[in-house]
Amino acid sequence: MDTKYLFITGGVASSLGKGIISASLGKLLQARGYKITIQKFDPYINIDPGTLNPYEHGECYVTADGQETDLDLGHYERFTGIRTTRDNSVTTGKIYLSVIERERRGDYLGKTIQVVPHITDEIKRRIRLNASKEHFDFVITEIGGTIGDIESQPFLEAIRQLRWELGRNAINIHLTYVPYLAAAGELKTKPTQTSVKQLQGLGIQPEVLVLRTEHDLSDDLRAKVAHFCNVGVEAVIQSQDLPSIYEVPMNMLRQGLDLICLKHLGIKQITEPDLGDWIDFLERSGRASRILDIALVGKYDLQDAYKSITESLTHAGVYHDRKVKATFVSSEEITADNAKEKLSGFNGIVICPGFGKRGIKGKIIAAEYARTNDIPAFGICLGMQMMVIEFARNVLKLPLANSAEIDPATPDNVIDIMEEQKSVTNMGGTMRLGEYDCEIVPGSNVWEAYGRVSSVRERHRHRYEVNNNYRDALEAEGMKCVGINPKNDLVEIVEIPRHKWYIGTQFHPEYSSTVLCPHPLFMDFIKACAEND
Ligand code: GLN
Repeated sequence: MDTKYLFITGGVASSLGKGIISASLGKLLQARGYKITIQKFDPYINIDPGTLNPYEHGECYVTADGQETDLDLGHYERFTGIRTTRDNSVTTGKIYLSVIERERRGDYLGKTIQVVPHITDEIKRRIRLNASKEHFDFVITEIGGTIGDIESQPFLEAIRQLRWELGRNAINIHLTYVPYLAAAGELKTKPTQTSVKQLQGLGIQPEVLVLRTEHDLSDDLRAKVAHFCNVGVEAVIQSQDLPSIYEVPMNMLRQGLDLICLKHLGIKQITEPDLGDWIDFLERSGRASRILDIALVGKYDLQDAYKSITESLTHAGVYHDRKVKATFVSSEEITADNAKEKLSGFNGIVICPGFGKRGIKGKIIAAEYARTNDIPAFGICLGMQMMVIEFARNVLKLPLANSAEIDPATPDNVIDIMEEQKSVTNMGGTMRLGEYDCEIVPGSNVWEAYGRVSSVRERHRHRYEVNNNYRDALEAEGMKCVGINPKNDLVEIVEIPRHKWYIGTQFHPEYSSTVLCPHPLFMDFIKACAEND
């Protein structure tokens, strides 16, 4: 079968859940036996979101091959279990960079470089890139931003051209918003009509509309939208708020989103979807009513900043029949005096990743509180570094112990800049990124948690590391270095074996935890938290 292309665009407002719809559609097609991939094209000019503050763009996700990406790629992987790559994440910055590099090389000698055709050709090439390397039945392309943004124009023009070139092998799904006006007691379709008109004005007639709404849409209202927007009534799908994002695929299945797409793409032989494991997960999730309280100690007070961590905790919770309630505790507000009041009510504590000085003190105090009160604690990346600093200060009695990131002049740089990072001058894309091997010390708690495997591969995103000069001292006092990179001897995991669960990882296990394949360390952490209930 030829590769089919599904483009997902959005109108009216941002944050309507295009990423979840893309992931859900991918899930449904996969459940019908197709090989799929999902990619995100973001119209902003940064090469990748690695240099963006989480306040701007939520969490920065990292692919196995080391690309810093939009957090939607996390949804794609968690829903479908596929592994995305650097080619699944494209920005205007990446597009322009490659065109300009080619121009400098002389590839276009004699020509004026223009948005059309040069930029649009590069967008089209990138849209087809994944399928040129490996066969996919379906490539789902989510276009970031909202129709009408100046930055989106070249992407929409590229889609218009591609649809023409691909004929029946491409369709467009447009996601819009139907607001409810309380004063009038009515749902309003005008913004949807206007948004579709705008898309039509750019030469794109969507085949399917997904309407985000807080209230059920009546049949009349669907018919009205269909009538005004040149689509069949069955192609007007509603996406109402649901208790969990993982219910969205079932909601889309019930309304036939995947079937309509298959029909438009001319696919006749359609197998029944196999969603058994997914349904089991949802049912188990529905039964898990006992709350498990987990503190997320971090500095970014926004829902999306630690997305992969909260999702990983949720999945692992379900498999332990617990409903995880992750509560953000601002590390800037934790002091030695209030640590008990802030942290004592929790079954477990996650000390979150991060960069820079802000909120560091509170993370160190949280690490100490968890360690001295034997509360299950999981330190991730910066969180792990803070566990090491706390241990060095309070157990090794090195009161000035610090990370070179926080205090470059510290006499006890228990966390130091990695050798290969010393010469780095550019900030973008230069951290230690993506998957690296990690050897696990047999007999350790993490070794048990991983199911007694001797080697794992995990995703990284950092510049600093545990200073090996302090390794013996840490180990002698009971903080064991139980995960080691076999190539360069970097410490990747520490644990205090005599504690219930006190583990820090230099890598980010949350990036590779999926709904059907939760990460073993999150599973083991939640188990310990549940036992601490
Ligand atoms: N800032 C730390 C480093 O660069 C930790 C990074 C992180 O938590 N992702 O090493």
